[in-house]
Amino acid sequence: MVTVAEAEKIIESQARDYGTELVPFEQSLGRVLAEDLFADRDLPPCNRVTMDGIAIRFNSFERGILVYKVKAIIAAGDVPTDITDEDECVEIMTGAALPDSADTIIRYEDVEIVNGIATIVANDIRKGQNLHLKGRDKKQGDIVAKAGQVIGPAVVSMAASVGKSELWVKKLPRVVIITTGDELVDVRDQPTPHQVRRSNNYTIKAVLAQFALQADMLHIPDDLEITRKIIKESLKYYDVLLMSGGVSMGKFDYVPRVLEELGVTKLFHKVQQRPGKPFWFGKDERGVLVFAFPGNPVSTFLCLHRYFLPWLMESKVESRKSEVYAVLGEDVTFSAPMQYFMQVRVGVNEQGQLIATPDEGNGSGDFANLLDSDAFMELPMGKIDFKKGEVFRIWPFKKIG
Ligand code: AMP
Ligand code: MG
Repeated sequence: MVTVAEAEKIIESQARDYGTELVPFEQSLGRVLAEDLFADRDLPPCNRVTMDGIAIRFNSFERGILVYKVKAIIAAGDVPTDITDEDECVEIMTGAALPDSADTIIRYEDVEIVNGIATIVANDIRKGQNLHLKGRDKKQGDIVAKAGQVIGPAVVSMAASVGKSELWVKKLPRVVIITTGDELVDVRDQPTPHQVRRSNNYTIKAVLAQFALQADMLHIPDDLEITRKIIKESLKYYDVLLMSGGVSMGKFDYVPRVLEELGVTKLFHKVQQRPGKPFWFGKDERGVLVFAFPGNPVSTFLCLHRYFLPWLMESKVESRKSEVYAVLGEDVTFSAPMQYFMQVRVGVNEQGQLIATPDEGNGSGDFANLLDSDAFMELPMGKIDFKKGEVFRIWPFKKIG
């Protein structure tokens, strides 16, 4: 048996680099950018108009000219028409390129235009107003997005702007989810009273999908031969096996035994924690990792968030790793000699602090309670009384705040 801290260290030491691949930028959301993105030209690429109105030379206005002949109307995307005389202007739209001969935009609200003659009706006009100047945001060749970050909507938008239709991203591991158990039937089957529909595979798949990670699913009955065959095949084709069930002390819990027979080295079995104590972790000589979680749905869920996701972040070389802490909202007592992951609801108080209120449910079989709670609060081992107001780390599994 290892402690939570030891288990975490062992798993962290097995972080992997799966290399990089090129993907269409529309499919890159949630992936980790593996190259810097550069501005292919100045941003903005021209002096861009930011208000619909007229363009003049500020010089003319300074000299007292308030009435201008409209020489042309310039739309966004047009090649700009120059003005030549000091009492000329062009009507010009937001997003259009300013002609070099003009330097100031007066919005429609501040002019009256009748029969092609524009009269300025405002006094407060500044030189260069309502313009977004060429190269103001980024110069050609500047880095606009750094490698190592998770690709969010802003990076997708920037990739589109600089014409990067394909992006180098960190490759993800090939993952298979393997559930075990004779009592488990397919979601579309009608279970007898002594059977249940299997859900852990869908839970795991859904959590992984939030991190742009696809996974295959397999199910094995509690049968030694079949367990051996399926695990053996899976070790050939995948980088990571995420297993659920069959790792406890039961007569039909074959998973640890089969894994070791097939050359998967046990790095630990059992963690001093609740829920999820029977968690088994190992690797084979090719470096394939096996996270074999206990089958109780809350145990699987906790182990996935507490151990697998941090490993994934580490392996994806995500530059921004965040640790979230919350204030305990009530006194709690927990006397067993193990680290307790307590389900909590998380809210925000008037000071902007996260407040965690215990919402414990009925143990690791009570997956219905996961719909009421928002996070696991990690209560350190060796302490019995946890007081309202103390701060502990939380592992959110929903958007909080
Ligand atoms: P085990 O770890 O195999 O002893 O399973 C512990 C408990 O979790 C049993 O009550 C199982 O029925 C349940 N369980 C195991 N795997 C799943 C699964 N994939 N979906 C839902 N419940 C499961
Ligand atoms: Mg089982």
